[in-house]
Amino acid sequence: MIFENSIEFAKQLDAKDPLAAFRTRFHFPTFHSKAPIYFTGNSLGLQPKTAATYIQEELEAWAKFGVEGHFLAKRPWYAYHENLTSMVAKLVGAQPIEVVVTHSLTTNLHLLMASFYRPQGKRVKILCEEKAFPSDQYALASQVNFHGLPTSALVEIGPRNGEHLIREEDVLSKIQELGDELALVMIGGVNYYTGQYFDLKKITSAGHNVGAIVGFDLAHAAGNVNLSLHEWEVDFAAWCGYKYLNSSPGGVSGMFVHQKHAYRKDLKRFAGWWGHNKETRFEMEPGFDPIPGAEGWQLSNAPVLGMAAHLAALEIFEEAGMDRIGQKRDLLTAYLAFLINDVSERNQEKCTFEIITPNEPSKRGAQLSILAKGQGKQLFDKLTAFGVIADWRQPNVIRIAPAPLYNSFEDCYLFAQYLERALQ
Ligand SMILES: *Cc1c(COP(=O)(O)O)cnc(C)c1O
Repeated sequence: MIFENSIEFAKQLDAKDPLAAFRTRFHFPTFHSKAPIYFTGNSLGLQPKTAATYIQEELEAWAKFGVEGHFLAKRPWYAYHENLTSMVAKLVGAQPIEVVVTHSLTTNLHLLMASFYRPQGKRVKILCEEKAFPSDQYALASQVNFHGLPTSALVEIGPRNGEHLIREEDVLSKIQELGDELALVMIGGVNYYTGQYFDLKKITSAGHNVGAIVGFDLAHAAGNVNLSLHEWEVDFAAWCGYKYLNSSPGGVSGMFVHQKHAYRKDLKRFAGWWGHNKETRFEMEPGFDPIPGAEGWQLSNAPVLGMAAHLAALEIFEEAGMDRIGQKRDLLTAYLAFLINDVSERNQEKCTFEIITPNEPSKRGAQLSILAKGQGKQLFDKLTAFGVIADWRQPNVIRIAPAPLYNSFEDCYLFAQYLERALQ
């Protein structure tokens, strides 16, 4: 498609957008004096208007039933997480037995690594990406340390000198090179900083070829890119519910454990009562009997209020469907990239922008990371004053995420207008 930098063109795209009406399902922030351009759905997704209804229902059930709400609430609390399973499974391309919504992301990463990072003999190394999200860096380093291993057991793979993205061939050859020293590959499916979406299928099979376990942090991938975790034979994964999935700040998060591990009672794990056989859970007998599949990694009973928000959001995803979301994501992101490049080309003498996110749609989701050469921070502050809610990363990167469920082509057009004005 040949794009144009004009309001008419943007409005035409919105008129043809089958998901356009979903925008009205969300609350847009009102704190700013200007109507906001909300481009931080990769950090905290907007609140679905139905979230309040679902949460209110549980507050009322709590008021009315007290503890009996576990069984008498319309959606009984003891099994509340089960309301989410099939929708979450679809989002990440999993069988229902492979997913569960529970805890928070970093907690889940630790629980999964407790089971799947089992260093033995010379097979002790973890391959991760350089400049991984800080929480992941701490989690990985502390896992290595927990096993009494030196930090050199953590091997980072980064971009080549002068480049911004990690070459996939470099990841694959590093896996090959580490060979029988490699215990675990654990990288972010979509890199939070550059927006690069890795070929998870290839990485998984390369890891398996050298006998390693492969897990992914999908914080920036779930609800953003199309995933087929089951088919790709990924061993495990975890993600949060509050970024592209719009399920409340610090909200409940998901985990995936491949079916091939579902019945493995030999796996070491940190256990809690909610992971125990549902038939005998309330007999409170000693001796842990894990529920087959991802549910066996649950520790605690369901945090129902957070899950109610998640339910509201997942129903919107279910209705829109990841196929349509994906089509709009690619078009919206491509249009935004076109506009930014257009502004950049016409204002070379003031500031130039380099989009460091891959240009190829299959290698990115709904995020563009703009390297602003020149006065990046000043520019960012001006954008903020215009009502653009974006994300600034030191030293000079602006991250913007046009979320297909609630951002419009007009948002992209207006962003480019503000960007150009900010340069004057
Ligand atoms: C957002 C994010 C986190 C945050 O972890 P929480 O446990 O939810 O606070 C961790 N890792 C990555 C890659 C993220 O993008």
